[in-house]
Amino acid sequence: MSDCIFCQIVDGDIPSRTVYEDDSVLAFLDANPLSPGHTLVIPKAHHERLNDLPADAASEVMSTVHALTPAVEAAVDAPATTVAFNNGEAAGQEVPHVHGHIVPRFEDDGGRPIHALVSDRPDLSDDELDDIAAAIEDGV
Ligand code: AMP
Ligand code: ZN
Repeated sequence: MSDCIFCQIVDGDIPSRTVYEDDSVLAFLDANPLSPGHTLVIPKAHHERLNDLPADAASEVMSTVHALTPAVEAAVDAPATTVAFNNGEAAGQEVPHVHGHIVPRFEDDGGRPIHALVSDRPDLSDDELDDIAAAIEDGV
C-alpha cells in the first residue's frame, strides 16, 4: 500500500530505527515514544487489523513480540512492559497497518494498567456473560 507509512518503512522509503527484521516481520522504535525503548512490531505485508492477518503472519508477529520483549526491557533497564495492539479505529488505532506496541514500564512512571482503558465498566448479568462467552466460543 503506497500511502501506508508502515509499508513505506518496510520499503525503505521512510527511515526507521530498526531493531529486528526477517522475511515477514519488522520491528522499529516508535517515533513518538511513550517511554524509552517503545518498540513497534509489524508484519511486512499490509494488513489493517489483527482480524485480517493470516494465521502464519500472526504467529510470526507474536513470536517476534515474545522474543523482543525481554530484549527491550534489558536495553532500557525496565522492570516491566505493557504489550498491546490498538485493533481498529474505535480502539485508538491510528496507523491502519497491524502493529504491536512494546512499551517499557517503570515504577512510578505515571502510566496506568490496561484496566484503565475505560472509565465506565459495564455491569453484566450472569446471563449476559454466558451469552457472550457462548458467542465467542461459537465464533472461533
Ligand atoms: P496506533 O495509535 O496504535 O496506530 O499507533 C501508531 C504509532 O505509530 C504511534 O505510537 C506513533 O508514534 C507511531 N508512528 C507513526 N509514524 C511513525 C514513524 N514514521 N516511525 C515510527 N513510528 C511511527
Ligand atoms: Zn501498510
